[in-house]
Order: sequence, then C-alpha cells, then structure tokens
Amino acid sequence: MSRLTEKPAFCPAVRIATLLAVILCLPALLRAQTNQNASESTSSTPAPVVGGTPDERAASVQAAAPMAMQTPQELPSACGERSYVTAVPVEGQYIAMTFDDGPSAALTPHLLDILKQRNIKVTFFVLGQLVQEHPEIIARAVAEGHEIANHSWDHKALNKLGEGGLKHELSDTSEAISKVTGKPVTLMRPPYGATNPRLNRAIEKEYGMKVILWSVDPFDWKRPGPQAVSQRILAGTKPGAIILAHDIHPGTIEAMPATFDALLAKGYKFVTVSELLAMESKNPTPAPAASPSPAVQKSAKSKKKAA
Ligand SMILES: [Zn+2]
Repeated sequence: MSRLTEKPAFCPAVRIATLLAVILCLPALLRAQTNQNASESTSSTPAPVVGGTPDERAASVQAAAPMAMQTPQELPSACGERSYVTAVPVEGQYIAMTFDDGPSAALTPHLLDILKQRNIKVTFFVLGQLVQEHPEIIARAVAEGHEIANHSWDHKALNKLGEGGLKHELSDTSEAISKVTGKPVTLMRPPYGATNPRLNRAIEKEYGMKVILWSVDPFDWKRPGPQAVSQRILAGTKPGAIILAHDIHPGTIEAMPATFDALLAKGYKFVTVSELLAMESKNPTPAPAASPSPAVQKSAKSKKKAA
C-alpha cells in the first residue's frame, strides 16, 4: 500500500487506478487490523516459571498464556508483498507438519522415532533456551532430515518487546540453532501468533527470516485428548496446508501415529516448510470437498468467541 500512496498521481488514469487499489485493499487491511487486535487482546506475556524441568516450564508458559485464538488470514498479493505465510498454493498433495515449543527431552525423541518409522520430514519451531539445554535432540532431528526454525528464546510475545528484547529473542535463538545445525535459520514463528505487519517486515528484512503461521490448528495445547487432536488435523488439512502442533504435550505425541497414517492413506506427502515454500504454484491443487467434522465446527465456534 505504501508504494501506491507514495506515487504521485499525475494523470486521471493513475488517480483512478490508485483509488481502485485502495478500495480493493480496504477489506483486507481491515481484516489484518482485526487479526492484529485479536492477537494482541488474547495473548499476554507469560510469567516466568521458576524450577521444574524445561518441559514443565514450557508447558506452564503455554498454560499461562494460551495462543491467539484466531486463524491468521493472508493479505491478498494485490496489496503488495505478503508479510507472513499460513499455507502455500502447491500442485500435488504436499503439506508441512510443524511442531512448536520444544525440544522436549521427554517427548521429542519419541516423536522422532514415530517420524522415522514413516519417513516423514517435519519442521520444528524451537525455543532457543531449550536448544541450549538439549542440542543433541536438535542434532538428531537435523541428521534425520527435519528442518529447525526459530520460535523465540523463551516464548515471549514479540509484539510487546522493545528493540533489545526482540534482538535477544530472535538473534540468540538463531545463533543457538545455527551452532548445532551449521546452517542459517530462515523461518520464524512468533509465539502465540502474536505479530503485526511491521514486526513481520522487521523479522524478514532485519533478521532474515520469513514469518510462518499456520492454516490448521488442532488446539492441542488445550489438551483435548489424542482423538480430538487427530480428528481436527484430518478435518482441516488441504493441499499446501501448514499444520500446527506442539511436541511438549503427551496427548499430541500420542495422536501422531494415527494422524500420520491417516494423512498418508489420503495421499498426502509431508515436506518441510522450506520445501513447501519452494513448491509455490500458480495452478494449485484444489482442496477436496469435505464437510467439517463436529469437533472442527465446535472449535471454529470457540475461536470466534475468543477472537
Ligand atoms: Zn509456541
């Protein structure tokens, strides 16, 4: 938008084009603003937890400040460069499964076993402080073909931080990851999905990472039980989907074998988020027509209420 409004309108044609662009973009901008407000109103900075295992600390952070309850929406490309990704239009039934808030010493190795048995590659959005505590889990995930991405140092809501705090959350985490993987970190997911266009641009331009949100959210952090987690993921997944889950909840890990097997049986192929981004297509595979399950309808209702 800024590029359009900065251009001087010398002739009526340019003026009309500008006016049309503004009219076309207005609903999207309003939606983006609503998302931003919803995100800010439903997320809060987690209280630091003293003691307990890293997993308990991470779990209590999640419980203390639940994730923003809205499914993020994408700005249409007509309004300029998009500032974050929720799904990728692709040809073929490719999807990206993502796991946040780990690594968990108790659960992530078990998840890696489940993934290895099925030759499934996923993306882990990890916390810097946990990478520092369990570099061996990250090293194993990389050796087995998974992607490691940034999810902040200790799960702070980035939209509440000043420049120094943001630098710590982003740079120190990327550094801790790169120390293990030997590769630069190119993807970032803000905790709670709490972000805004300005922050997204800063993460991309100043820190060199693309902001990745999600298109399928099973609300597994609410611990609804393995069956509900599995059912919600199966009901919401379409070609190009980015699926959110957390490898710090036992119920989530318990749900994964059946979830993976059902998705594989439907013909879905798992790739990392970077691989999915590289597959972006102008002729994407359409989503299969399917009515959402009662669990998903219920979850959509609760989403609306919270947002
Ligand atoms: Zn998180």
